[in-house]
Amino acid sequence: MFTLRRCLMAGKAGAQSTTTLVRMAHSALQCVLPWTLAFALGATQAPLKPVTLQLKWHHQFQFAGYYAAQQQGYYRDAGLEVKIIEAEPGIDVVQEVVSGRAQFGVGTSALLLSRFRRQPVVVLAAVFQHSPIILVARAGSGIISVQDLPGKRLMIEKQSDELFAYLRKEGVSENTVALVEHTFNPDDLIQGKVDCMSAYLIDEPYFLDKARFPYLTFTPRMAGIDFYGDNLFTSEEELKARPEQVKAFREASMKGWKYAMQHPEELADLIISRYGPRRGREYLLYEAQKMNTLIQPGMVELGYMYPGRWQHIIDTYVELGLLPKGFGMEGFLYEPEAGVRQVNRRLVTVIVLLVGLGVLLGGVALVLFRMSMRLRREIVSREKAEEAMRLEHEGKARLEEQLQQARKMESLGSLAGGIAHDMNNVLGAILGMASASIEDHPEGGHTHRAFAIIIKAAERGGKMVKSLLSFARQSPAERRQLDLNVIIREEVELLERTTLSRVHLEMELEPGLRPILGDASALTQAIMNLCVNAVDAMPAQGTLTLRTRNHGHGWIEVVVEDTGAGMTAEVLERALEPFFTTKAVGKGTGLGLSMVYSIVKAHHGQVDIHSEIGQGTQVSMRFPACEPASEAIETGAESRVQVARLALKVLLVDDDELIQSSTKAILQTLGHDTFTTPDGESALAIIEAGFEPDVVILDMNMPGLGGVGTLPRLRIRLPEVPILLATGRADQAAVSLVEAHKDVTLLLKPFGKKELQENLERLGWG
Ligand code: ADP
Ligand code: MG
Repeated sequence: MFTLRRCLMAGKAGAQSTTTLVRMAHSALQCVLPWTLAFALGATQAPLKPVTLQLKWHHQFQFAGYYAAQQQGYYRDAGLEVKIIEAEPGIDVVQEVVSGRAQFGVGTSALLLSRFRRQPVVVLAAVFQHSPIILVARAGSGIISVQDLPGKRLMIEKQSDELFAYLRKEGVSENTVALVEHTFNPDDLIQGKVDCMSAYLIDEPYFLDKARFPYLTFTPRMAGIDFYGDNLFTSEEELKARPEQVKAFREASMKGWKYAMQHPEELADLIISRYGPRRGREYLLYEAQKMNTLIQPGMVELGYMYPGRWQHIIDTYVELGLLPKGFGMEGFLYEPEAGVRQVNRRLVTVIVLLVGLGVLLGGVALVLFRMSMRLRREIVSREKAEEAMRLEHEGKARLEEQLQQARKMESLGSLAGGIAHDMNNVLGAILGMASASIEDHPEGGHTHRAFAIIIKAAERGGKMVKSLLSFARQSPAERRQLDLNVIIREEVELLERTTLSRVHLEMELEPGLRPILGDASALTQAIMNLCVNAVDAMPAQGTLTLRTRNHGHGWIEVVVEDTGAGMTAEVLERALEPFFTTKAVGKGTGLGLSMVYSIVKAHHGQVDIHSEIGQGTQVSMRFPACEPASEAIETGAESRVQVARLALKVLLVDDDELIQSSTKAILQTLGHDTFTTPDGESALAIIEAGFEPDVVILDMNMPGLGGVGTLPRLRIRLPEVPILLATGRADQAAVSLVEAHKDVTLLLKPFGKKELQENLERLGWG
């Protein structure tokens, strides 16, 4: 029954419902009535022009705007008599419109594919600013992110291009997942026949919620794939023949949408009384509520289309091999004059913003430094504003606010990430220059002191950038070999001194726990967050248990368990979401578990939460263990000690002039010679020409090949030469690059003399 909604082209007939007869009579009435009315009225006024709108699914809230335009007389005022036809099995909406049986239709972003197949459709308005297609996973199935899908059973529709693009983007190969054909029955997920399924945000979750079934959702938007959902479209022929009518229909429909989103209850009643929907009022209102987040009536002008978004959709289809490279959208996008002006206005805003950002980024370090502080403060005040807002708007509005807030944080995060990169270079230059020059001046003197302060300030700036980045959830700052037992013991000391008087503490730490590779401060933070949650859940008394053990093949597990209040299915389902909290203002931020989640993910681990109301909660984190013996690196280094204290030929590959001159200055004070190239290509060229450096400092972020492209090529030409990979962000790309190659070390930006010297020493060169 759900097939039609998504796979019109497949034309698969679903089971016909028994209400068909009733509905047929109903729609007959619906067709005849207006026509008779029109006829009766037509004697005095210009006759209304009959047009047909073909929907892509049964009558339901999904099409509310069109019913509202009808009911409110917007169509009639536009001189139109509109027939709204719901989809029946076997109907192809695009074909209906292209053939002229209907003048207008509702379609998805796949309209682009129709156009490529020589069905000349023109998209008039994007009603759903975001696609409703999502993945839904059973909570506790071990799926916490899309990356957990390999080896799991996924029920998925063949035509969910966005989802396949999503998997690809997350590095999940379709072959590693057990794909199951979609039955469109949410029970299959509930009964555990599958672990995950594709779904419509406005549909299946309703049944899952009703069944009080705990689940997690993932949307392609998490990976930056953002399609439009329901779009209003017409044919090229229709637009050419009756441009005024198309314009009038579009305008009246959008007006209808505006009305519908403002009056969901009224529209639900209207749909029930006039259109014979297959589901009840509660379902319609659920749809309406979820649609709010997809249509965003308060934020985006209804129907607004941004050519850049369509280009992004085209690019995604090209990546999937469904559209040819260079596929153009000429003629596909409808451009009413008003729309053109609107786009221009937006463009101007974007350009102004970009110029503003450019000026900011070009500014001196101090400005950037202050800006990072301001950003942090802003984050905090937004958090507070969010808390206040949350109290005010309970229920429907609350959901939307949270979503928008999360999205804002996301963009703030990427903004922070971008600024951080440039800031690191600026700070690096300051730190470099200062640490190179400080020793030219007598200790205790004025200049020496000034340089010392500059160095301290730059180092502090670097730390702030790091915390900004970790807030933006982008990087584990370090990867060291760690004993989690040690981390837990240190933390318990702190806990004992604070909250633990009323809570009994148990520790079961496996003596021979294998070490892991990771960032001690981030992991401390994660465990601390879990302990705080556990203590919060036991206001009177209870037991907090911290457990570690070697787990299965190559994993270690940390469990934080409490005997507290536990969580309901609804809370459990949303507990990992940023900003989700059930605690009072000032008490909870809703960021604790989402931080835990991102920290564990950054360590290639897994989180599992089990909770029972009244019984307690158990959070388990699993991390890949590493082999304890890493002396190999050190012994390897020792053999090079002999060459120490020679002047080294250092090849510095970095596009930033500030970094070039400051690094050169440091290396000079250390007695080494620096050769600089601005990119990987020219570095490879001079090596090809016979240049033999003793060590290479390679920047990660450069135009062209970049660090990622240059490193493997360097390794082929210089198999033995140590490489310091310089980056401000020890993110996944950098870490895997280091792991994949011999003798490559991360050099965290900003670095000064001390850091560079240490790194060269570690390679055996002082
Ligand atoms: P916060 O603690 O700031 O509310 P978290 O992300 O840490 O944010 O947790 C989100 C929500 O999950 C909490 O508000 C609480 O409802 C629930 N929760 C988390 N941990 C526990 C626990 N150990 N016991 C009961 N509920 C918990
Ligand atoms: Mg918390």
